[in-house]
Amino acid sequence: MTTPISDKIHHALSQIDNVLLAQDIWLILQEQKFVGFLPHFAIQHLCNKHQITPQQLSLQLLPIAACYATTPISHFNVGAIVIGVSSNFYFGANQEFCQTDIQQTIHAEQSAISHAWMRGEKQITDISVNYTPCGHCRQFMNELNSAEKLQIHLPHRKNNPLHQYLPDAFGPKNLNIQLHLLDQHDNQLSLNSNDPVISQALAMANQAHAPYSKAFHGIALQTQDQHIYHGSYAENTAFNPSLPAMQVALNYLILSGEAVENITRAVMVEKPQTLSYKRMAEDLLGSLTKVKLEYILT
Ligand SMILES: [Zn+2]
Repeated sequence: MTTPISDKIHHALSQIDNVLLAQDIWLILQEQKFVGFLPHFAIQHLCNKHQITPQQLSLQLLPIAACYATTPISHFNVGAIVIGVSSNFYFGANQEFCQTDIQQTIHAEQSAISHAWMRGEKQITDISVNYTPCGHCRQFMNELNSAEKLQIHLPHRKNNPLHQYLPDAFGPKNLNIQLHLLDQHDNQLSLNSNDPVISQALAMANQAHAPYSKAFHGIALQTQDQHIYHGSYAENTAFNPSLPAMQVALNYLILSGEAVENITRAVMVEKPQTLSYKRMAEDLLGSLTKVKLEYILT
């Protein structure tokens, strides 16, 4: 039996020295049913009341973000918080999966960034993480449309640009790619279906960032309460740090405080190309649930 996210957060709040700030954070998260997201007005309220900057608040919130981690392999919980150009905060945490391969893992920075993307954020200005970003994540972040000015904050080192962590970087600009991760994409895919879950998966395939392979694909996961969580494919110039749509959708579901056991339906829409993520998606889904993947080619 897994511990409810509310219990984990309640425990993590004790790590915040400012008891009044911890109480206010608890009330806000409780009110929004423990979704790992803070809207800009809530952040402004907390910062004004407690006389702290958004960056300081994001560092205080890292133990809360780490509560969303799933770490049956490493038992090492990483929390990340992305600040969007909208001033909203998006939580992220590392996700590990048993009974499948280690390549299916989602790192905390990938988790927070893809979470922001799925909630419609257009650009990321800052990311706070409780441990130094690994090389894989530095390369993943270099795909962002804001990579040139992205600021990284760690508990022991603040206000450092991504390119200080990734000097002489290889990125989309080396391959003359015009649209970057989080830019608006329209991959011009279509299907003849009125099914809302299929339509959502198609919309996700249409906004996938896959300029290198063109293996556009999207995922929609429906839960018992009829909610649909979606995911788009985030490809990377260096290929291996790419994040498949199944990971993005599962991460969105988990960061929304939902349990994977509540998935009742899973749809994947993919454009046939030299690559396919079908097998990887089926494998990951099959490691978590008995729900069978509905696979649709455009
Ligand atoms: Zn990493």
